[in-house]
Amino acid sequence: MWTWNAGDKDDVCGICRVAFDSCPPDAKFPGDDSPVVWGQCGHAFHLQCITRWLNSQAEQRCPICRGAWEFKQLTTSEEPPPLRDQGQ
Ligand SMILES: [Zn+2]
Ligand SMILES: [Zn+2]
Repeated sequence: MWTWNAGDKDDVCGICRVAFDSCPPDAKFPGDDSPVVWGQCGHAFHLQCITRWLNSQAEQRCPICRGAWEFKQLTTSEEPPPLRDQGQ
């Protein structure tokens, strides 16, 4: 079945189903910016949502793929570039 927003799945939080550029329903303050975090599995959630989810689970697993949850480290410009292979 085709729905008008079928192509935007990656743009919504997998927990609260609210778009990442909007506040999750449990945001403490209206207009509170809700940071988005990624797991190593590639799924993304509001920081608040995944934190709440993990706190409610005995094991830290992704709510979508049930894989072990691990926060993906976002690369920043402050990090040194990966060392090149020095060759022979
Ligand atoms: Zn959310
Ligand atoms: Zn996942």
